[in-house]
Amino acid sequence: MMFTLFCLATCVLAFNVAARLKPCNPEQARFVWNELAVDAVYFLVSVVFYGGVSLALTRWGVTAAMGAKAPGALKAIEGGYGLMPTLPVAVQALIVLVLTDICQYWLHRLFHGHALWPFHAVHHSPRHVDWTTTWRVHPVQFLVYSAGVAALIRVLGFSPVVYQVLAPLNLFMGALVHANLDWDFGPFRYVIASPVFHRWHHVDDPAVRDKNFAPTFPVLDLMFGTFYMPKGERPRVYGAENTPEGFLGQLVWPFTEILGRFKAKPDAKAGPRLGAPAA
Ligand SMILES: [Zn+2]
Ligand SMILES: [Zn+2]
Repeated sequence: MMFTLFCLATCVLAFNVAARLKPCNPEQARFVWNELAVDAVYFLVSVVFYGGVSLALTRWGVTAAMGAKAPGALKAIEGGYGLMPTLPVAVQALIVLVLTDICQYWLHRLFHGHALWPFHAVHHSPRHVDWTTTWRVHPVQFLVYSAGVAALIRVLGFSPVVYQVLAPLNLFMGALVHANLDWDFGPFRYVIASPVFHRWHHVDDPAVRDKNFAPTFPVLDLMFGTFYMPKGERPRVYGAENTPEGFLGQLVWPFTEILGRFKAKPDAKAGPRLGAPAA
């Protein structure tokens, strides 16, 4: 808890002060804005409920798959086993980051598809994109995209210390790419995700937001044709259509939106798809 508060204080200092020096969108408020309260609720929910979810998913999956052999397997997985713990921690951390990015790149694309978009639209809902947007994630997306991927990768047997190293790094990267900073990292723009790279992904235009899916390594977007950082331009207008503004409304809305599709009259299906990005 103290560590989380320390990270939070560092983010406030680093990103709010840096945004004053070189903002991507100078018109955005620096310290207090309308959607900050909802972001704060998402942050509190993540601190209170999300901590042990990925480990619980690993235990559940291994128990379901291995039955009576599960306790021994889980002991090996949670302590690290096989080749991975023999590698230096930095190398293990890099492997975890790369594997996570590959999984999350494709899952992110899946969440931009018609079927799952309402769950992910919650993350795209803020008109004011800032470092606090990081935590604005629907629980269904958290379960699949964050905890699910982490649970799968844990099965590979990396040293437990790797996750302790990566936790603050992931938190910092997530906050950094959402921060209101005019940083594109110059020649390193293809190597590591920058604030400008990810802020383009939050633009309120389906043709633009279906780009820049990689959480950390934009080279994945380059490889798969989804890289978008036009030279000399900056993203301006953010958000996603039809999403409610309040926390509880955003929790419920994806379910009602998806259920509503099944109730829609046949001729209504020919109209524009509400809440879905263009193909
Ligand atoms: Zn997205
Ligand atoms: Zn984002």
